[in-house]
Amino acid sequence: MTTPSVTVSPQGANRARTGHPWIFRADLVSSPPALQSGDEVRICDARGNFIARGFFAVQSPIALRVLSRKDEPLDDALLRSRLAAAYERRRFAMPGADAMRVCNGEADLLPGYFVDLYGKVASVQHLSEWADVRAPLLAKMLVEITGAESVVFRDDGSAREWERLPRKKGMLVGKEPGEVRYHEGAIDLTVDLLADHKTGGYLDQRENHLLAGRLGRGRALDAFSYHGGFALQLAKQCTSVLAIDQDASAVERIRENAKRNGLTNVEARAANAVEQLRALDKEGQRFDVVVLDPPAFAKRRDGLEAALRAYKEINYRGARLLSPGGLFITCSCSGKVTPEIFDEIIGWAAQEAKRPLQLLERRGASPDHPSLVGVPETEYLKTYFLRAP
Ligand code: SAH
Repeated sequence: MTTPSVTVSPQGANRARTGHPWIFRADLVSSPPALQSGDEVRICDARGNFIARGFFAVQSPIALRVLSRKDEPLDDALLRSRLAAAYERRRFAMPGADAMRVCNGEADLLPGYFVDLYGKVASVQHLSEWADVRAPLLAKMLVEITGAESVVFRDDGSAREWERLPRKKGMLVGKEPGEVRYHEGAIDLTVDLLADHKTGGYLDQRENHLLAGRLGRGRALDAFSYHGGFALQLAKQCTSVLAIDQDASAVERIRENAKRNGLTNVEARAANAVEQLRALDKEGQRFDVVVLDPPAFAKRRDGLEAALRAYKEINYRGARLLSPGGLFITCSCSGKVTPEIFDEIIGWAAQEAKRPLQLLERRGASPDHPSLVGVPETEYLKTYFLRAP
């Protein structure tokens, strides 16, 4: 059977030629009527010149996901070799880790397919139609490649709606795993991959958690703490840690995690962190370490103004709460907030708080979460380490 061809606009063709894996529906000029969700297609310009091979989407605003600039079949062997290569690279990038991101979508040339591995349990997300229709096939390959015993799917996030895919979660392989244990450095953590946030943990911050643990001393505040990724590393070195998250089940898990690790200096509070930051500042409290790791205030372009105000407010409070010499770790996981915009927010906060800040390091996600050069949408996490001199 010959692979059907679709025609894209000059703009769509240029985009694919620059290596961008997304072609939007507005740039799709013509396609055979019988095409189905996830079908393989040859992508051509108006003159019929071959540009790339990709997968077709019926509903998504992204009509085509480009997989290869070569005129080669996008068969099981190709998908398997990409997944195997992704896994192999992680074993070098994250030596000794028992939890890692195995596949990071676009950056691993499997656009919209994300895999985290916690011990023998994989947690996957399908954020593209081609991956969605191949979910059982990809799960089978994953088991063969990684030795995972069960595969959870977490297709319950809002990004699925944007792809016009239904929100759901469940098992693709094996039995429900219950609570799964993993480590970050010397800290022993548990996660419920079917009940907790996104694919389970915030593995993208792993290396930043570890660095925080190396640099932190004294009295620490971890706002937006989730399971205590920062708080627990800090607790090893600090005299006390106050962790705040509005999600009561996350706070409960911090308490359990602290107990299991023999840490008695962590206070975990279920509360609105924005209000708590304001209240702590008004009380005149000061901390030697302040961590701010809020959720993506700006998910899409609309709402950016309100998001910027929220980032400014918390960073202003964060800067004011620092003791002399204090360490300030501030993050944004909104892709719409570029490093340039984040620099401006922090600059504004330092100025308003009248606290000069040294920039120690602009960091991003751990090396198992690579981005793809030329595709800014794949670069989202900014974690800055600063110090109030
Ligand atoms: N710092 C964590 C990840 C944080 S994710 C880590 O490194 O592992 C963002 C967290 O912010 C989520 O746990 C969410 O429950 C929490 N959150 C969102 N809005 C909040 C608010 N207004 N106040 C407190 N916590 C909030």
